[in-house]
Amino acid sequence: MEKIYLDNAATTPILDEVIDAMVAVMKTNYGNPSSTHSLGQEAKTILEENRRLIANELHVSPAEIIFTSCGTESNNLIIKSAVENLSVERIITTEIEHKCVYEAVLEVKNRNGVEVVYLKLNEKGDVNLDELEALLKSSDKVTLVTLMHANNEIGNILDLEKTAKICKENNAYLHSDTVQTMAHVKLDFSQIPVDFASCSAHKFHGPKGAGFAFIRKSTHLRAQIHGGTQERSLRAGTENVVGIAGLGKAFAISVNHMEQFSAQIQEVKDYAIAQLTEKIPGILFNGRCTEKENSLYTLLSLSLPSMNPLIGLQLDIKGIAVSQGSACSSGAAKPSSVLSKILTEEVQQSTTPLRVSFSHQTTKQDINVLVEALVEILGL
Ligand code: PLP
Repeated sequence: MEKIYLDNAATTPILDEVIDAMVAVMKTNYGNPSSTHSLGQEAKTILEENRRLIANELHVSPAEIIFTSCGTESNNLIIKSAVENLSVERIITTEIEHKCVYEAVLEVKNRNGVEVVYLKLNEKGDVNLDELEALLKSSDKVTLVTLMHANNEIGNILDLEKTAKICKENNAYLHSDTVQTMAHVKLDFSQIPVDFASCSAHKFHGPKGAGFAFIRKSTHLRAQIHGGTQERSLRAGTENVVGIAGLGKAFAISVNHMEQFSAQIQEVKDYAIAQLTEKIPGILFNGRCTEKENSLYTLLSLSLPSMNPLIGLQLDIKGIAVSQGSACSSGAAKPSSVLSKILTEEVQQSTTPLRVSFSHQTTKQDINVLVEALVEILGL
C-alpha cells in the first residue's frame, strides 16, 4: 500500500540529495575533526563550511552556531546553562512550549530554585506581550524568557521581533525554540535580537541526530557536556560529521527553495482547508492555523466534529500517517497538552483532535485521499 505521509511536523522524509551528501562524507571523510593530520582537517573543513553556511543565512558569526544532536539537546543546553552560568533567577515561559523546553524549565525550577512564571494564553493560544513587558518591568531579577517561535501543535507564530525588542529593552535574555521555523521562514538574527535559538535537521528533510544551538557570543554561555574543546568548548564530544553534512545540505536546499516550497505548501494547505470545510460539516480549526500571517504554512490543527479516539489508528490502516492529539492506553480520548490549555471543556469532550502537516512533497491528491478517508470513518 502506498503511504500518504501527513506528519511532517513530527519529522520529514530525508531527501535523496541529502543522503548522497552524507554517504559521500561517510565513505571519504572518516577522520576525526580534532586530529591534526589531513584526514582530520578535511573532516574539520566540512564542519566549518556548514557552520559558515548556516551563520551566513542567519546573519550571525560562525562561532555562534554550536552543533548538537537535536532540538531537545539545544534547548536543554541553553536553558540549563543560562540558569547555571548566567545567574538566571526567573524564567518567563508558557505551558504550551514543546515538552523539551517545558520539562527543562521544570528541572531548573526544582534543581536550582528558579522562579517560573507562565504567561496567560487566550483561546487562540496567543501570549499577551503587554503582560510580558509588565512582568519584566515589575522585577529586576535576572530573567530568561523562553517562548517558541512557532507552536508544533497549533502552528501559531510569535512576533519574535517585537518579543526580542521588549526583552532587550528590559535586560532579559530571550531564548526562542525555532525548531519548527528554522529553514522554513526567513530568520535574520542581526535584526532580531534573540540571544538563543534552536534547530533540528529532521524537521526540514535532514537526518535525525543533527541540530544546532544559536548562542549569541556576548552571553558567554558555558557547556553542559564537558570533555574536549569541540564546538568552542560549548559541547564536548567528537562531532557528528556525517549528520552535520546532511544538516548543512538540507538547510541549503530549504533556504534556497524557501519561496518556492512555501508557496507550494501554502497552496496545498489552502486546498486542505477548503476541502475539509466543505466535506466535514462542523469541523473546527484550532489556534491560528488557518491565518496566513500568524501561523506556520506547514500545518493544520483540526478538531473533528465527533469523539473518536481510534481515528489515528483507522487512518494508519488506510495508509495515512497523521498525528492524533493522543489517546491514552485505556482508549479514552485524551487531548494534547496544548489543546487542553486552549479549548473549552465542551469542545474537548465532543471532538477529536488531528494534526495534519505538510512538506513540499505533499500533493492535493494526498489531501483528497485524507478527506475521503475521514468522510468514510466519520460516516458522513
Ligand atoms: N521543539 C519543537 C517545537 C519541536 O517541534 C521539536 C520536535 O518535535 C523539538 C523541539 C525537539 O526536536 P528534536 O526532535 O530534534 O529533539
